[in-house]
Amino acid sequence: MLFDTHAHFDDERFDADRDAMLEQMKDFGVTNITNIASSMASSRRSVELAEKYDFVYASVGVHPSETENLTETDMEELRRLAQHPKVRAIGEIGLDYHYPDDVAPDIQKKWFIRQLDLAQELNMPVIIHDRDSKGDSLEILKKMKISNGVVHCFSGSAETAREIIKLGMMISFTGVLTFKNARRAIEACAAVPTDRLMIETDCPYMAPEPHRGERNHSGYVRYVAEKMAEIKGISYEEMVDITDRNAKRFFGI
Ligand SMILES: [Zn+2]
Repeated sequence: MLFDTHAHFDDERFDADRDAMLEQMKDFGVTNITNIASSMASSRRSVELAEKYDFVYASVGVHPSETENLTETDMEELRRLAQHPKVRAIGEIGLDYHYPDDVAPDIQKKWFIRQLDLAQELNMPVIIHDRDSKGDSLEILKKMKISNGVVHCFSGSAETAREIIKLGMMISFTGVLTFKNARRAIEACAAVPTDRLMIETDCPYMAPEPHRGERNHSGYVRYVAEKMAEIKGISYEEMVDITDRNAKRFFGI
């Protein structure tokens, strides 16, 4: 009953074997996947995947690094795509200041806020990508009173995790939790109440130990659940069950 809440099966790294991979997922005990969009093209592909596979749900939205040439016409298309019954969230959206030559922060902020507006208007949860934004993402979420959302691939401190929880949001962890230098992520995970936790792979990226460096896939989400169970001091089965229920509540399944 594993639920991978954040996968990118539309990514070109799955071009050679996408269908074969998705058909294998049940053998890994994965019963649900949300395919997360990162651009306009990927939003369309995400919906197509959700149409093709009954166990795949989709989000639509544009990642901060893809916001440079966005237009209001794109927002209209997102609004239209979001009406599809298998689209359950807006994302991934947010801020990413990691690379200095990436899209200018002002442009990123503009489209982050615009997509948060859209999610509020449609009453849909948001998938937040926040990397090195120095508190800007959290400030915007607070200001706009966003409570229906998840901060994905969480890499912040336990203190930041508590602030996100206070907003009413969820926090999800990737295979980063299994890395040898994961002390900070482990501390953050320990600080999150179990009913606010979700598991994800962010595949094809972020493969967990013992597959670090390989192409990731949803079948490896069990390593995240195992580590999380260990951190929380509960059984693996219990953790899988809790995160499955949390994800279904979050995505309205
Ligand atoms: Zn992602």
